[in-house]
Amino acid sequence: MSDESQELGITESKSHKPGEWYAEVVQKANLADYAPMGGFIVTKPRGYALWEAIQESLDGWFKDTGVDNVYFPMFIPESFLEREKDIVEGFDPEVAWVTHGGHDELEERLAVRPTSESIIAPFMADWTRSHRDLPMRLNQWCSVVRWEATETKPFFRTKEFMWQEGHTAHASNEGAWEEVWTRLEQYERVYEDVLAVPVLRGKKPEHDKFPGADTTTTVEALMPDGKSVQGATSHNLGQSFAESFDITFADEDEKEQTAYTTSWGLSWRAIGALIMTHSDDQGLVLPPTVAPTQVVIVPIWQEDTKDDVLEYSEGIADDLETAGFRVELDDRDERNPGFKFNEHELNGVPLRLEIGPHEVDDAEVTLVHRPDNAESVADRDGIVDAVDEHLDEIFDKLYESAEENLEENVREAHSPEEILGTIGKHGGYVKTPWCGDEACEEVIKEKIAAEIVMQPLEDEGGSTAGDVPEPDHDECGVCGDPADEIAYFAKSY
Ligand SMILES: [Zn+2]
Repeated sequence: MSDESQELGITESKSHKPGEWYAEVVQKANLADYAPMGGFIVTKPRGYALWEAIQESLDGWFKDTGVDNVYFPMFIPESFLEREKDIVEGFDPEVAWVTHGGHDELEERLAVRPTSESIIAPFMADWTRSHRDLPMRLNQWCSVVRWEATETKPFFRTKEFMWQEGHTAHASNEGAWEEVWTRLEQYERVYEDVLAVPVLRGKKPEHDKFPGADTTTTVEALMPDGKSVQGATSHNLGQSFAESFDITFADEDEKEQTAYTTSWGLSWRAIGALIMTHSDDQGLVLPPTVAPTQVVIVPIWQEDTKDDVLEYSEGIADDLETAGFRVELDDRDERNPGFKFNEHELNGVPLRLEIGPHEVDDAEVTLVHRPDNAESVADRDGIVDAVDEHLDEIFDKLYESAEENLEENVREAHSPEEILGTIGKHGGYVKTPWCGDEACEEVIKEKIAAEIVMQPLEDEGGSTAGDVPEPDHDECGVCGDPADEIAYFAKSY
């Protein structure tokens, strides 16, 4: 390797130093840079393209299921924020405040939105007159600010992050539940079918719900380092926000009723989970579904074969582009094929086509899969179909490997020692009967910083109440008291 490719490549190891490795992949694969202010990042074109791919899928599904996009101001007057007390208490330590406009002190401080219930709900109240106005489903794509004093981890932990936040109002609690499940299912789908990251659906324990919510449901993804990522959340807010903000409506008998509301959000943390799940010591690995470049063609020539190889390669690039693939022909003169291979590996291009004089003579193409370097040969004639099949195969490989990691890493434990030992040794999820007391979580948390990341749901998405199934073992895995719930402990991002 030349010095130049050393500098280009990843030097940290994913299995030994996942944190350092992750930071290096993000920077060297050109996804993001650190901003001059601690806690903020600059998203580069290749990183933003990943966000756009997620956005495109979700936004389409939202619109297909009755959601309209809106945009509300990024500032929330303090008096609005104070109208729902749980929101104030929950977010107060993390709110950034605007106190001045130019040189003048503001009469009322403005919060930079940490989440927008408090500015959206009053307008929903205004816009809701009768039952005919419901359900009302609004969504905005924006960023929010939460001033956490933790170490910056691009896409996982930043003071400002991109997300979408959906806010809906319904005439009945059943309607609100249906909404909660619809969005949770769409989040599951974006992780599994778009990002090739399998997730578990569950709900957060009572003490870890979204402030003001009746129930917080979640999709959780297990990273290869054994930590869980909260992938997205969908909250049934019950009537607490509707009561605080007077979201009422006249029912069919002209009687005034209070609405039920929900909110749900997915942030660019999904990009973090995507990178962490699939990438390796050579750099970024992306499923073809989101890769900005799905196929790179690297022509390999000598002076006397250059014209033929290039012409042949261009023909293939044209065919693939016409068929709708995102393809790049890397015909740079100043770089040798080895350098190009490394660079496209680092950038996570899922499929590489190698074309030299042999391929031209035999009317063939050599295909190499990014995740495992699997190499095969296809006929020039059927190249469009072959590429299509290979991209599907690459997606399946990534999904299956992540699924295997998840399946192997859900273990049961029935005592504090066993819970601690299992998480300490293997990471992953430890499933245990739980009495429901937060103090039992504290016992584990104090020792190894693992917490209850979720509780499984009674009936995969079908339960209107978000019930948790009964454990078959009836003693709390921590204190030994009677347990009628199940908890999943894990370390988390
Ligand atoms: Zn207990």
